[in-house]
Amino acid sequence: MSKRWKWLAIGLGVGALVVIERLRPLREPREPGPERVGRNLAIGLIGAAATAMCELPIIRPVHSLAERHHLGVLRWLGLPHALRVIVGFLLLDYTLYLWHWMNHRSPWLWRFHAVHHLDRDLDSSTGVRFHFGELVLSVGLRAAQALLLGVDRDTFRVYQQALFLSVLFHHSNLELPIDAERGLAAFVVTPRLHGIHHSTRAEETNANFSSLLAWWDRMHGTLRLNVPQRGIEIGVNGFTRADDVTLERSLALPFERDPRLLPGPPAGAVPPHTSA
Ligand SMILES: [Zn+2]
Repeated sequence: MSKRWKWLAIGLGVGALVVIERLRPLREPREPGPERVGRNLAIGLIGAAATAMCELPIIRPVHSLAERHHLGVLRWLGLPHALRVIVGFLLLDYTLYLWHWMNHRSPWLWRFHAVHHLDRDLDSSTGVRFHFGELVLSVGLRAAQALLLGVDRDTFRVYQQALFLSVLFHHSNLELPIDAERGLAAFVVTPRLHGIHHSTRAEETNANFSSLLAWWDRMHGTLRLNVPQRGIEIGVNGFTRADDVTLERSLALPFERDPRLLPGPPAGAVPPHTSA
């Protein structure tokens, strides 16, 4: 498939998701108007600009450095190309799981990541609502992945595109038939799985950290299933009023010492995974 057709297909898929999540909503929106979506898109655009400014001068030179000096575990192992691509893809997703978990455990990182969780509804627009500070810090993660893991540029590109689609999908408010969702959730993160992670309740938000493949939560015992979506209050505890989540408040939050965010999210024990 040519690049043009690929991007057309992705655009049509995203457009269809945006329409269908409104026709088959999983959770009742608290703020159904266009203002919230506009706010999320504005935060996303600022984040995209900040990412582009950091990616260009950092990530390309880091890849060149890693290639020139044969850096990273995957290069040292000398695996066949196909196996190296598959293992690289898995390692990128696993280290993103660890990074997301750290964003919830470190009070300092949580200040930035909380802006993503501040949204009082969850739909595909939440999937682009990341504070520019969190996105700039994640450039550091990608530099470390390139240097230490030795993942090549093509694998990075394919993973980034798959991740983007996964993030829009699992943040969406799309109600899938329960059997279809259970089948999908055995492999990838689904809207119900991620809806639990966006709950204001500590025992629910401290679960389901995976971003693409759902296996990492199973592996670490952080998977939480079977929470009725209509009973979930989406957002961050203590930030449930409309004026807590305005564009200005969202952008300023990481730089303020708001006592509601300190000393970080409660690190309550995650309930063991019991049923499918
Ligand atoms: Zn999170």
